Amino acid sequence: MSGKLKVRVDQERCQGHARCKSLAAELFDLDEFGNAHEIGDGAVPAGLEDKAWLAKANCPEIAINVTEE
Ligand code: SF4
Repeated sequence: MSGKLKVRVDQERCQGHARCKSLAAELFDLDEFGNAHEIGDGAVPAGLEDKAWLAKANCPEIAINVTEE
């Protein structure tokens, strides 16, 4: 059984391309500077795991961490 996923955006790395939000609007939001944040505590709802990995793979700054609990 795989555990629950969590996403987290590394604020030091994020440069605000918003690719994560366009790929997974359920998981990421942008602040007023265009930098991304995980929504809520970053817990990935069931069924959105693929989007979490997709966003991670497509972040040009390698700013998205996906952890499995
Ligand atoms: S894709 Fe990466 S660098 Fe771009 S806004 Fe999302 S976390 Fe930040």
